[in-house]
Amino acid sequence: MAEELYQLLGVSRGASEDEIKKAYRKLARKYHPDVNPGNKAAEEKFKQVSAAFEVLSHPEKRKLYDEFGEDAAKMGYDPKKAEAFRAYRDAASRGGGPGGGFGGAGGMPDMEGFDLGDLFGELFRNRGGGGRAAGRGGMEDAFGRDEPEGPSRGEDLHAQVRLSLRDAVTGTERSLSITRPGRCKKCKGSGHFGKPETCPTCKGSGKIRQGRGPLSVTGTCPTCGGSGKVAPPCDLCGGTGRVEETARVTVKIPAGVQSGSQVRVAGQGAAGAQGGPPGDLFLEVQIEPHPLVRREGDDLYVELPVTVAEAMLGAQVRAPTFTGEVTLTVPPHSQSGRKLRLKGQGVPALRGNGRGDLYFELLIRVPEKTTADVKAAAETLARAYAHDVRADLHL
Ligand SMILES: [Zn+2]
Ligand SMILES: [Zn+2]
Repeated sequence: MAEELYQLLGVSRGASEDEIKKAYRKLARKYHPDVNPGNKAAEEKFKQVSAAFEVLSHPEKRKLYDEFGEDAAKMGYDPKKAEAFRAYRDAASRGGGPGGGFGGAGGMPDMEGFDLGDLFGELFRNRGGGGRAAGRGGMEDAFGRDEPEGPSRGEDLHAQVRLSLRDAVTGTERSLSITRPGRCKKCKGSGHFGKPETCPTCKGSGKIRQGRGPLSVTGTCPTCGGSGKVAPPCDLCGGTGRVEETARVTVKIPAGVQSGSQVRVAGQGAAGAQGGPPGDLFLEVQIEPHPLVRREGDDLYVELPVTVAEAMLGAQVRAPTFTGEVTLTVPPHSQSGRKLRLKGQGVPALRGNGRGDLYFELLIRVPEKTTADVKAAAETLARAYAHDVRADLHL
């Protein structure tokens, strides 16, 4: 039986969560492998202390530990499984062989009904497969950083970019400065630097045992990948393979994006840990409203002021678009609100081909000043209406 967990952390059985955390931090700093390079005794102590913290910092695991002892606490969070395991272990240690402790009609001749994968799944996931055993959760607490075992993909990063409607219609490029976990240049991201030595995790065998007693399983050592040799941790990145960097990233933003569109920039997220692949960068697009142009899906709407004469008699008028001026034909006898469509001059479809349309909505403007002539003309116009213009207005 391993040394008692409370004893390992130097706290009493009634210690509060805070006391346990404090005790662990103190010991983790003292025995951390980065502080004691090559010191096997310190490393072993660090592993034990981390394993103890893993159990005692977790209220349910701690409860199980108090009740059933160390093995039970590692079983995951299921007291039934812990109990089953204890029964099995007790039987095994009495020499009764597997199954002896289950009792029942004639006992159980083998491991039937005892799902090892299920039982140890939690344990393996939690401990990440050896090395600085069980330290992961605790390490983050104590050092504010993550030290995963073996290569893992970098995190995806998210940023926002504000665009004008014109940029969204035509597409654009943005140069962004982002601060992210980058690949350590000294160890090229591997987390190891220097002459390979005997792997401290597997002691050179390339294999590690997980679990204990008759239920242990052998697997490939994640620290050295099975070779049995590994270079010491890189001092620049603390063995993570990552250091903070500020990088300038140029991003092509395709025509057709909308507010809320995500532009993925492959490989520009956080660097992977210990040589893992990088994550991606996602830019969320926000489009600023345009004072004169309204967007509905891929169609654009612009109000086009015309004179009374242009609306009545028809005209060729100049109008702006995001890609240059166009000449529009206003048909004779156009009413206010009439839409002139420029087919395919709207927003390009983000996926697939095609574009939306650009609509110019006529807005009839009366003259700024009403002189005697204008007044006379207006009175002439007034007599030209054959019907009440509001005849169809019913609410
Ligand atoms: Zn490094
Ligand atoms: Zn190894």
